Amino acid sequence: MLKTDKINTSLTAIRSLRSSVSQVFEKLSCGDEATLQQQLQDHFNTITTNLRELESAVNTFSATGPFNLGNTSFLAQETSQERQILYSQLVNSYKWIDKIHDHSYLAHNVLTSNNLKRSCISKRGRIPPTISNANSIQHLESILKECTAQHNIICKVTRPFGSNGVIILNIGRVFKAAIICKGLVMEWVTIKGWDESLELEDLWTESRYQVFQKVQDHCHVAMLHFFSTTLPHVAVKCYMTYLHNYNKLFTDVCKKCGKHLSKGLPPTWRDLRNLEPYHEECWNG
Ligand SMILES: [Zn+2]
Repeated sequence: MLKTDKINTSLTAIRSLRSSVSQVFEKLSCGDEATLQQQLQDHFNTITTNLRELESAVNTFSATGPFNLGNTSFLAQETSQERQILYSQLVNSYKWIDKIHDHSYLAHNVLTSNNLKRSCISKRGRIPPTISNANSIQHLESILKECTAQHNIICKVTRPFGSNGVIILNIGRVFKAAIICKGLVMEWVTIKGWDESLELEDLWTESRYQVFQKVQDHCHVAMLHFFSTTLPHVAVKCYMTYLHNYNKLFTDVCKKCGKHLSKGLPPTWRDLRNLEPYHEECWNG
């Protein structure tokens, strides 16, 4: 049966039902009392028949639209008006989530095709499997073990926020760093001087030394640079190499001006491709 035929059948059924219901009211207003009961009985039987016809006509419309939300479609049959609104809100939310999925998929493709990003993969020529969050705790610790042994960094992982780890690192005798991770993804870094406290309550406060405030800013830039959703373990490894490079913060000279200090600060910026030291203004100039 064509969709237009189905609609016509349903509309006819609705008209018959309305007509039989209005006949009842007519009969009630001007009927003969003696035969009223019998007549009403007949009319109610007609109404029941018409209602069944309407129901069977409506059931021929299959709910195979793009937003078939299962049992939640019964929300549309709620009698209270407040709850009837819920269904349309639900469908709208579903549409938005669908759009977000599409956009995030596109964004992911664009971000992963960024060829300017430094990557250890191209050097090694093999792609390790993507790591899911389920085994990220053990994986993070094994990666850190490998990195810290390689660079001779003292490192400790604590989990004050449930499964999400905080990596506390000592970079030589230069500074302390706390990296806050979500699974394997690094989200924040705090740099503090050797004599400053780096407990849980200090994670979100800046160092009192200007040099470490500057280093923290640069570390955040590097964190974004190395960020990878598909290969977060590679990002952690690259970032550890980057941080380790700061162990000569106060002895390195700037690659551009050849001096130790500029405006009272050592070369705090690192070239993200080859990790060579630069003063911030020499790099920008
Ligand atoms: Zn310089």
